[in-house]
Amino acid sequence: MGGWVRGDAGTRGRGEMGRGDAGTWENSSGLGMLRVEGLTKVYDNGRVALEGVSFEIAPHSFTAVLGPSGAGKTTLMRCILGLIRPTHGQVWFQGQSLTGCSPRQLQQSRTQIATIAQQFNLVRRRNALENCLGGRLSNLPLWRCAFSQFPPDLLQEGLAALDRVQLLDVAFQRADQLSGGQQQRVAIARALTQRASLILADEPVASLDPETAHTVLGLLRSLCQQEGLTVLCNLHQVELAREYCDRILGIQSGKLVLDVPTAQFNAASMTHLYKS
Ligand code: ADP
Ligand code: MG
Repeated sequence: MGGWVRGDAGTRGRGEMGRGDAGTWENSSGLGMLRVEGLTKVYDNGRVALEGVSFEIAPHSFTAVLGPSGAGKTTLMRCILGLIRPTHGQVWFQGQSLTGCSPRQLQQSRTQIATIAQQFNLVRRRNALENCLGGRLSNLPLWRCAFSQFPPDLLQEGLAALDRVQLLDVAFQRADQLSGGQQQRVAIARALTQRASLILADEPVASLDPETAHTVLGLLRSLCQQEGLTVLCNLHQVELAREYCDRILGIQSGKLVLDVPTAQFNAASMTHLYKS
């Protein structure tokens, strides 16, 4: 049963880890990237979307969250981002509690967390470069944003990010004139321009053809390996998770039922995760 998570998920990892004094946590390697502890979300209609989910994400790792539709994957990401408030539990990002902090601290931490959605959440009427720069607008005065007066070094950074995803040639093309795969790569370039350290990707390849899906996931993996980013990615396709991710978390009916290095994910894990 190695890697299958049973019972009280809130007890994992306690051996190596302890709370700091003032709303921080640390492990032996210093501050961790992301820790989710006993996360439960009950929606207003009584639906229990998450129940006691706990795990920890190491820096520079690429982790897949697998699970049937309705398992709670999107709810998990929305709780981590602070878009919805968990009913119970904690989220820690780089040693800072996101669930117990002030709105200002939450906003500050969120500048380092980028999101990539299934439907390429770009500003459709803006060009690729402007969409990248959007990742840093919270650092600029409003008038500069309104008149697109971006500092030259920021423009350079946006162009370099587009170059990194091999889209420099469409920097000035409107987002809605790009293919789905190109739009998703712009979203990745936006995460780079944002200087995010964590990317939360919710089914980022669900709307893409298989070849483009490989390109996008290969790019995300290379960001972990070469740029030192950390990626947590909801996926539907088990085979893609096995090919690109280091680790697989499995959620079923709101519970974390699997937490394994990818090499240990086998047919039995799959049956365990997708059984009705
Ligand atoms: P997944 O992303 O794995 O498909 P979700 O997190 O979207 O799952 O949904 C988990 C469960 O919570 C589902 O049963 C869904 O219907 C329910 N749910 C999601 N959002 C809401 C909401 N705003 N209000 C009530 N129930 C919700
Ligand atoms: Mg979802």
